[in-house]
Amino acid sequence: MKKKSIKRRITLWYTLVLVIVLSIFLGGAFLASEQYSKTEMKEELIDEVGDLEEDISKYPDYFPSNDLLAYYDDGVMLGIYNSKGDLINGIIPDDFPIDHPFVKTDVQEVSNKTDKWYVYDKVFIWNDDEVYWIRGIHSYSEISHLVDMLTKWILILFPILISFTAFVGYLMISKSLRPVQEITDKVNEITHSADLSLRLQESESHDELSYLAETFNDMLDNIEDQFIREKQFSSDAAHELRTPISVILSHCEYMLQDMELNKEEREEIEIMYEKSQYMSNLVDALLLISRTEKKNYKINLDEFDLSVLAESVVDDMEIEASRKNIHIRFVDQLEDASFVGDMTLIIRLFTNLISNSIKYGKENGNILVQLQEENGLITLLFEDNGIGIPKESLDKIWDRFYQVETSRANSQGFGLGLFMVRRIVQLHKGTIEVSSSFGEGTRFVITLPKLSKLES
Ligand code: ADP
Repeated sequence: MKKKSIKRRITLWYTLVLVIVLSIFLGGAFLASEQYSKTEMKEELIDEVGDLEEDISKYPDYFPSNDLLAYYDDGVMLGIYNSKGDLINGIIPDDFPIDHPFVKTDVQEVSNKTDKWYVYDKVFIWNDDEVYWIRGIHSYSEISHLVDMLTKWILILFPILISFTAFVGYLMISKSLRPVQEITDKVNEITHSADLSLRLQESESHDELSYLAETFNDMLDNIEDQFIREKQFSSDAAHELRTPISVILSHCEYMLQDMELNKEEREEIEIMYEKSQYMSNLVDALLLISRTEKKNYKINLDEFDLSVLAESVVDDMEIEASRKNIHIRFVDQLEDASFVGDMTLIIRLFTNLISNSIKYGKENGNILVQLQEENGLITLLFEDNGIGIPKESLDKIWDRFYQVETSRANSQGFGLGLFMVRRIVQLHKGTIEVSSSFGEGTRFVITLPKLSKLES
């Protein structure tokens, strides 16, 4: 299943929230301030026009040609016009359209190609019958320019700010979630190595993740404890069974060799002998497994000649193979066969794999056992043209007591052989792979480090 990243999801969500909140906030602040400055301007304009009218009333002697009156204040330009629309005093912007009609209504907006203004006209009557206009003009081009500039900057800075925040946030989330990745890696390591003695690193941060690691370690302690007790039980049980089974075996051997038995009695004792032998093999296998699975189990390291060992196992197995007329081909391509490892376990590895190839081989079949060396690694190949393993069983054959349904009926095994083989390979820090075609044959490839890895 495709892995979905929490980091990416959280970053996406908070970036989205940030974009929405910032857009609302900036947009709102922007509109409000624009609206506010426009309203301020209009009020200022109306006030200034009103002030001029008051000043004219205060100093009637100087009207209409009084240059002492203020015609510019707080950005507002003021002009006095006669009834024909001629400017008789005051100041107006250079590019303001001179013939713009006078209106008595509220503030108007006037613009040409380059400028924009607010205009407020007020009529007043002088000497009862002379009509004059006071016109106030306030430019808002500057505000417009400012607004345009601000919009441009916001449009440039907004994505940069969002990307920067998203990036920094992503780094921070990654840092906070790093322990989760470490926990996942460790749990994977525990799962794949099946080593229950491994523990998660508990950090000093005393946060949720360190608590999770602690809880997990407690759980592992419990599982390991249970596991050790279970293993101890099977090891003790196997020990206890060993002696009575050997007694039964030796009694059977004695009866078969030294006693006068009729045909029926002999057959019965032979069955007992065979079954006891089977039990004895099972107990041996269980003891070997529990021994090699002990927490601090260390393999015995011997230096020996792998070619000689492999050849002698192959020779021993030939008698068994000949019962099914199976031919074992031994190909040794090792130039230097010296090997450091546990000799007893390596013999067990060869025996188990070759005996499986015989057990599950077809009459008149072939087995290939090949030794090769590449880049300091020894490769052992076991190939047969036997009954093969169904695809769905390939990853289960390594489990304890697992037997493929089709092989159960005619097998003398108990499903521990490959479990042991894999354990032996693990103890020698090697790898094992299987490939098989059901009905056509099976191939096991084992790689083992030659010397150095084990010694270090
Ligand atoms: P067993 O004691 O049953 O042989 P193993 O652990 O050695 O147990 O093998 C597990 C199962 O894998 C066997 O039951 C068998 O079905 C299958 N198997 C192992 N080796 C071979 C092989 N060379 N060819 C076909 N099947 C095999």
